[in-house]
Amino acid sequence: MRFEVVTLFPELIASHMSFSIMKRANDSGIIDVITHNPRNYTLDKHKKVDDTPYGGGAGMVLMPQPYVDCYNSILKTKNSITLMMTPQGEPFSDKLSDELSSYQQIIILCGHYEGFDERIRDIIKPREISIGDYVLTGGELPALCIIDSISRKIEGTLGKIESAHDDSFTEGLLEYPQYTKPRIYQGLKVPEVLLNGNHKMIEEFRFQQKLLRTKNKRPDLYEKYINKDNPSAT
Ligand code: SAM
Repeated sequence: MRFEVVTLFPELIASHMSFSIMKRANDSGIIDVITHNPRNYTLDKHKKVDDTPYGGGAGMVLMPQPYVDCYNSILKTKNSITLMMTPQGEPFSDKLSDELSSYQQIIILCGHYEGFDERIRDIIKPREISIGDYVLTGGELPALCIIDSISRKIEGTLGKIESAHDDSFTEGLLEYPQYTKPRIYQGLKVPEVLLNGNHKMIEEFRFQQKLLRTKNKRPDLYEKYINKDNPSAT
């Protein structure tokens, strides 16, 4: 999987790729994360990439020329998709992450300042994605959320791909509670059922816990799960 990130701040992307699981995945070639800086494509002698908005208003808008030229310089592979990070996009989710994990190349456009000149959208026609109903200063954090989430779905990124299968949202439910050593901490005990080695009982306990905590923490997800997928789980 190749991620190509169009960003004015490549160091932000590189920093996340320098640690832990993402570093291992990148170093071993399971994923490949490359950055492209529109500033290197500006025809302006002062290397300007933004300017004031026509019609007035606060902030600076990203100029179309450096962005579009930078985007056009990227060699597109066969199974490729282009995403634009914007609070106006469709909400990112585990389902969308699954869908995107089937692409070979994902090009991600990161905005900054007041965002993109509208003609960047008109020309590139990206799929617009939001990571939530709030506004950040730039598209790099959203891009990293998407890269990180998709990478976890790719065989080899996690030690065992099964770790992802039990995660929250995978089956429309939140994950069960997890425990590790010691058995007792500040008087709080690990549930007995997890210590007895009976895998069937452990599986049943965990499933019931998934239902219970989804019902308590995310009644919206629980309703969806019960009504649409599994009416028998009640
Ligand atoms: N003026 C824009 C608006 O109101 O729609 C917001 C621009 S925001 C300050 C700058 C950049 O951060 C955006 O172009 C986008 O790339 C990124 N961004 C901010 N919030 C985001 C979110 N919730 N999801 C995805 N990208 C976001």
